[in-house]
Order: sequence, then C-alpha cells, then structure tokens
Amino acid sequence: PARTRFAPSPTGYLHIGGLRTALFSYLLAKRTGGQFILRIEDTDQQKRLVHDAEARLYEDLRWAGTEWDEGPSTGGPYGPYRQSERNAIYQDHAARLLADGSAYRCFCTQQSSAATSGSYVTSGCHQNCSSLSIAQSQEKAHHGQAFTVRLHPPADAHKRTYPDLVYGKIQRLKRSPAAPQVASEDGASDGASDSILMKSDGTPTYHFANVIDDHLMNITHVIRGSEWMASTPLHYDIYSAFQWEPPQFAHVGLLVDKNQAKLSKRNQDLDLDVRSMREAHGVLPYSLNNFLALLGWSNPNQSDRMSMESLIKNFDLKFTRGNAMVRTEKLWYLQKQHVAVRCELAVETKSLRPIEPVVHQVAAEVRRVFPQPHASPDALAAYCTEVLLADRNSYTNAPHFVERNKYFFHFDPSLQPAREEYSKDSSRFKAITPDMLDDVLRNALADLRTRQQTAGDDTAVRTMESLHATVDESEELLRRYKTFSAALMRYLRYRLCYKLPGPKIGLVMALLGPEECARRLQL
Ligand code: GLU
Repeated sequence: PARTRFAPSPTGYLHIGGLRTALFSYLLAKRTGGQFILRIEDTDQQKRLVHDAEARLYEDLRWAGTEWDEGPSTGGPYGPYRQSERNAIYQDHAARLLADGSAYRCFCTQQSSAATSGSYVTSGCHQNCSSLSIAQSQEKAHHGQAFTVRLHPPADAHKRTYPDLVYGKIQRLKRSPAAPQVASEDGASDGASDSILMKSDGTPTYHFANVIDDHLMNITHVIRGSEWMASTPLHYDIYSAFQWEPPQFAHVGLLVDKNQAKLSKRNQDLDLDVRSMREAHGVLPYSLNNFLALLGWSNPNQSDRMSMESLIKNFDLKFTRGNAMVRTEKLWYLQKQHVAVRCELAVETKSLRPIEPVVHQVAAEVRRVFPQPHASPDALAAYCTEVLLADRNSYTNAPHFVERNKYFFHFDPSLQPAREEYSKDSSRFKAITPDMLDDVLRNALADLRTRQQTAGDDTAVRTMESLHATVDESEELLRRYKTFSAALMRYLRYRLCYKLPGPKIGLVMALLGPEECARRLQL
C-alpha cells in the first residue's frame, strides 16, 4: 500500500494544477489500499500566506472527492500535519545533523538590499564556517550570533544519480558560471554554495521540512510537479545525510496552454482555480477529475470517460514525460458524457440524486436569464429536470444548455418565424398551407389535453414516464396525418421552438403542454 501526500503551501487558492497532483496522489493511495495525507507547508514564505486559503483548500478538495485520510483537522498518527506546528521537530533534526557533522552553522549572514522586506540573503559561506570546530561553532551561537544551518554536500555529489519514476534519472543542475553566487534563505542552492537547511530565524527551509516530514510520515511515493525536479537532488542529499531510505519520486509535467506557456490564472475564458471552476463555470467534480487525470497520465482504457471508481481501478504510474496541454474543449466534452450517463442512471434507478447538482444549476441559470416570475422553486426544478432528461445528450454547462433550450422556459414572439416561413425553402411543402396544419393541430392538441388530464404529475421521474407515453402518443398522433406528418414536424419546430434544434418535437409538445402549444400556435 502506498502512502502519498499532497503538500500545498497556503499561498493562494487551489488551482487545477494543484488539484491534479493531489488527485494523482489520491488515486495511487486508493488504488493500492494505502493512505492519502494532507500536509500544510506553511513555514516558508510566511508573508505570502493567504488567510482563508487553508479553509478554502479543504472545501475544494472535499468537493473534488479527494478526501484525505490524515491531515490538520482530521488528525492521524503522524501529526501535527501543519508545518508551522512542527518547528521543534525540525530543530531536533538540525541538531542531529550538526552533531554528526553532516551540517554546519554558517555565520555569514549579511543584511542585503532586501532588508526592507525583512529577509536575509547570504552570499554563500565565504568565511569557511564549515571548518570551525563544533566547539567554536557552539560558542559563537551561544553568544547570540545569527547563523543558518547548511548541509555538507556528499563528497561524491556530482557522481550520484537520482532516480525518478517518470524521467528515469534526474540530473543535478550544473553550476552556471553566469549565475550570481547567491542562495536566498528560502531557496535551494544553485550549486554555488552549500544549501541552507535552517534559516537564521530558526525555521526550516522548505526543502528541509519537506524531507523530514515525508520521512516521518512514512510517505512511500512523492508525486509532484516537475518544477520541483531541480530541488530533488538536494532532497536526496538530505535523506542520505540522515541515512534514510528516500521515497519514490514521480515528477509530472506542468500544465501548459495552447501556446506551450505556463498555465496562467485564466485560459480560454475560464478561471482556473477550482472554486471559480465550480462556482462561476459550473464544472462538476467528476468531469474535472476525469479531465485532470488525463493530463499527463496514459489512460490504458478505451474510453476517456471515467468515473472516480474507474480512475481508482485503472490508475498506475505511467505518466507521460513533458508538459501537458490544457484544452478546455475536452473538459466540456467529458462533462457532456458524464451528464448524459447520469441522466440515464437517474431514469434507470428512478432517483434524481445523480443529476441534482445539474438541475440546480439549470434552475439557477433559468432564473438568472429569465427574471420574470417562475413557478415555485420545486416546480421549476421539476420542469428543469424534465428538460434536462429530454435533452440529456447536450449538456455541457448551464448557460449553454439554457441558451440551447430557451424556448422551454420563456416564449419570445419576436423570435418566432411567421407561419408561412416553414415551407419557404421547401417545394415539398408548398401545397400544405399553415391553415391546413393548424386544423390538424387543433385536433391533435385536443387529444393531448384529454390524455394529460389523466396523467398524474408527481416527482419529475414519474412525470417523465407518463411524459414518454404522451410523447409516443403525440408523435403517433402527428404520424397519423401521414402526408402531413413531415410538414407538421417542421411547422412545429418553427412555431414552437424558433426553428432551433433540440429534443424531438413530440417531446417538446408534451413538455410545453397543450395550452402553451396552443398559445404559441395562436389556435
Ligand atoms: N509545498 C510544495 C508546494 O507548494 C510541495 C512540493 C512537494 O510536493 O514536494 O508545491
């Protein structure tokens, strides 16, 4: 069983890139019957923390269904799970490395030009602090001299190889002569100086805390973005300084836009933080998970549409190398598939649960677009359910769906083509005048009226069932006027639905009901 973790820094709101690494980690844990851990990495960059980021992160992860087994509020055997509560652990571990000579105190701190922001920058160790004896070093520290703790790199550092499950081997970055020989206190060394483990304020660098926590929390697999690859050799060095077995690393490519540029906050008119995705754009959790899982993972399945269960069942560590391009058309395509399947399920199981959130969004959108008074919320929801089930293969998101099906919710006579128009470009129907069709429809609607009076309307699904009977009947009614039926269907499409494509016309009639049909047809 794998123990995996998602270790975000609460410096902003959860972006789809973050959810994707969380999801991969979650899937691996669940696939292997292991645990998924949430750890908040809030020691670094204290100043950039966003106060409600943590609370929102919980909400977003829960919404996505990537529920963690251990974490700050949940607890667990390896807590605390918030790094700011673990400082004593890092101090102890730094002391261990100082005592056995794998690390040393460096007193070369100098106030930098960044002093205004309160941060220190050290330009490497230029006084040879590593050659101080332990006693001398302790003495200086004792006298209150500020110090950082630096790692002695392993002697054979440049010969070492660093395995990665995706990339095979990770290279240690070569020291670039052009690069300034400066390592900021919260960054890895650029190779010019020994890496800092503890900053002069007594808190750990991201690298040190990350390695200690992964080890103490028994993490077996680290799945993270390839932006961390450059730091991985240092992480391996820290494991080896402690003589710990490192976890297995899998670095996944970054998400990029169509121009191969790093994904920004907005792409193709979508805000890409998880909250906006669900609240502003109506993305559903199963569609988003499905979409994200396919970005950089080689799905062995025939079909791209996968539920969380099938993702868990099929997940493996076969990631593709390189960056993954985000095409939001694919997200809407998957959402369409998911909603269609859920509609089938609702009908089959006679339960509206699988489509409740979708119906909710449709109803909200209807209220937004057509602010005129509507039936009671329940009646509106029931009606939206019927329309959704009627047009179940076309739902991408609520605005698109309501636009496509607008004539169900509101009738705008100015959009209705004139009666004669229906036969304009069809010589076939020239001989069938609107008057003839209206005569037929008068009878058909009268029939429909009697039938609907007998059909009860209870929950939407039951209505749907009786609706289907009515639809069959109304279509049969139309077909009965043999020579007329094609003309009738076309005529109705023009007069009832502004010529727009959508559910079968019999279904449209049944949903609108005979009264509304008569009104639109002016019969
Ligand atoms: N705290 C790091 C981040 O915000 C975690 C990187 C890792 O997964 O090791 O991305």
